[in-house]
Amino acid sequence: MIFELFPLAAIAPLPDSARIFDALSATMEFTIWSGEGVDCPNCQTYQDPLSEHLKKIWSQYRGFIFVLSCGAVVRLVAPLLEHKSIDPAVVVVDPSGQYVISLLGGHQAGADQLARMVALALGAQVILTGASNNMKLPSVDTLGDPWGWRKGQGNWNQVASAIARGQKIQVLQENGSKLWQDNLPSGHPFVFEQNNSQDYQARISISSKISKDFSLDQVNWHPRVLYVGIGCSRNSSKELIQKSIEQTLERHDLSKFAIAALVSIDLKADEIGIIELAKSFNIPFFTYSAEALKQVQVPNPSAIVESEVGTVSVAEAASILAGDNLIVPKTIFQDESGWVTVAISQSQQEYIGKTGSLYLIGTGPGSLDQLTTAAKLALTKVDVIIGYQLYLDLLKPLQRPGQIIEAYQITQEQQRANRAIELANWGLSVALVSSGDAGIYGMAGLVLESLQKQNWDGYNPQIEIIPGITALQSASARLGAPLMHDFCAISLSDLLTPWTVIEQRLEAVAKADFVIALYNPRSQQRQQQLTRAWEILIEHRSLDTPIGIVKSAYREQEQVILSTLAQMLELPIDMLTTVIIGNQSTSRHLDYMITPRGYLQKNE
Ligand code: SAH
Repeated sequence: MIFELFPLAAIAPLPDSARIFDALSATMEFTIWSGEGVDCPNCQTYQDPLSEHLKKIWSQYRGFIFVLSCGAVVRLVAPLLEHKSIDPAVVVVDPSGQYVISLLGGHQAGADQLARMVALALGAQVILTGASNNMKLPSVDTLGDPWGWRKGQGNWNQVASAIARGQKIQVLQENGSKLWQDNLPSGHPFVFEQNNSQDYQARISISSKISKDFSLDQVNWHPRVLYVGIGCSRNSSKELIQKSIEQTLERHDLSKFAIAALVSIDLKADEIGIIELAKSFNIPFFTYSAEALKQVQVPNPSAIVESEVGTVSVAEAASILAGDNLIVPKTIFQDESGWVTVAISQSQQEYIGKTGSLYLIGTGPGSLDQLTTAAKLALTKVDVIIGYQLYLDLLKPLQRPGQIIEAYQITQEQQRANRAIELANWGLSVALVSSGDAGIYGMAGLVLESLQKQNWDGYNPQIEIIPGITALQSASARLGAPLMHDFCAISLSDLLTPWTVIEQRLEAVAKADFVIALYNPRSQQRQQQLTRAWEILIEHRSLDTPIGIVKSAYREQEQVILSTLAQMLELPIDMLTTVIIGNQSTSRHLDYMITPRGYLQKNE
């Protein structure tokens, strides 16, 4: 399932509307609610008036897709709305299934994204009316979502409308990934400067600290970079631990939303107060062995602690081990329930708190209409798209504002794979694109091999391979029906495969009368390989065997030539070309290459 956003309800009150959801069911999971009398075996039926029924189910779902008029939907949901930070996403599909409208909760609730996905799956037009889409900007209230940043205090509406008006926005970013900054459109309104001399209308602060400068409308995003080390006496109360942490944070203007985790020594792994607090803050709690903590240099070692637990420091050492850079040394707090020590370290890289995913996507031969819907959906969904520059240019129309795009040169396959794995391991969702099919001379093998070397557990990151139309299929479609009988693909590139192996395979398939598709047939540096292949082929096939070459299939410069084996070496064959060599039965009729499957011969 490509889209596992959240519990979704599809509302189909009209007799025909449930059918629209058939096309969506491969893409996303949802419950369909239909009115009585609607013929829909997979639907749940509601008996009450829809307005009453919605009241009952409203809090069970985080998103609603209605097939109904916008007017009716507005009237139905209006009494149920509370605030945009908690209201669900509402998307409307018109009853003919041609338009998908993001009606409510575009950013925070994810309705824009849901509407994009629904529209792609239905082949419909998406309608987004938020200003940030128009400006190709990430929206201020979802800016940090990919990296798991948390939202702190802020005048979110005022800052969003300052951005929509195109006013200058000061961005002060002390922590967290700056990848988003590298992917802004030209003419964006953000200024990344400390000084206040400029005429800024609003500010975005991205920091573990809470900005205390109220001279402008501002919002606080908090990357999760703080590791709070805790030592405590047995059975210290949750209240004492919480108070100790909150006071420490407050003294240093740090936000509790910036906490990545609570950390301590193994002995404290079952300490109820810490466990409960971590749960109520919704953050992880993990511990280190005394042996590991002993190795860490700390500013405030204690002989007493050492005699009790076998290391001179718990709070400071654990926080340094987790977060690297100690910014708040140990402080002690006490009450009648016991004592607590708190120390805080800050890490370079934020904790995202999600399992990353990596989509290996085949983008087909080149034009967008040869790209599968599954590939389009995944490309729309991911945080990051990585690929070879040429293919990324072709995919530009599919990019959504705020996506991170990383382009590489054609030869940098290993770098592309490593970068994609690195970002997915961190917690981002990443698409690594190959032309054609990712699993045919593409990036899928390299990624899986690299993961295998890293002892990948099969879950983290999650991998999904999305097939694409490979070059031999697009070339075949342009040439007629050359692949109608057994065929094979051979790459003539000997950069990674020894030439002797390629020769042996050519020899074997030429002899066995396979139709042959040659990938990577000839480059500026590799001319000889095609000549040698031809010499092998003519030993087993007649010179008038039909062959076809297709260059840049489905791209602007497409060229299709039908010829014979005799002419092969004179044809304009290069690295953008796929060559298809017929078998002994292949013939040519007009501009079509035809390999018989055997139907007509059988009847003769
Ligand atoms: N993963 C790709 C193949 C990459 S190898 C796929 O499945 O198609 C690169 C080779 O593929 C090129 O040298 C060329 O032989 C072939 N190729 C890729 N795209 C092509 C296109 N649009 N038209 C013709 N050949 C193409």
